Amino acid sequence: MTSANPKYAGKFSRKALPPAIQYYQTQNIILKGTGLWRDAICPFHHDTKPSLRINIERGAYRCMACGAHGGDVLAFHMHKYGLGFVESAKQLGAWIES
Ligand SMILES: [Zn+2]
Repeated sequence: MTSANPKYAGKFSRKALPPAIQYYQTQNIILKGTGLWRDAICPFHHDTKPSLRINIERGAYRCMACGAHGGDVLAFHMHKYGLGFVESAKQLGAWIES
């Protein structure tokens, strides 16, 4: 399928996504602990203890309390702001205009 909508002209560049630690910092998500998976307060429910697990290599996240999850910072951004793929990629600087 081709789209004539210029809004979607371009392509996604995964390697242009911000590093996970940097991205979550800009979202005011405080990462606690050490190692590959860090703990944070979940923004998707009223969290009182760090229930959200974040993989600092891939940016993946999973909440042990409410079940929110995704595979990278792009998924988190779409989820948090209710945005589509392209709009989220643009906001994260990972959309290369053609
Ligand atoms: Zn949660």
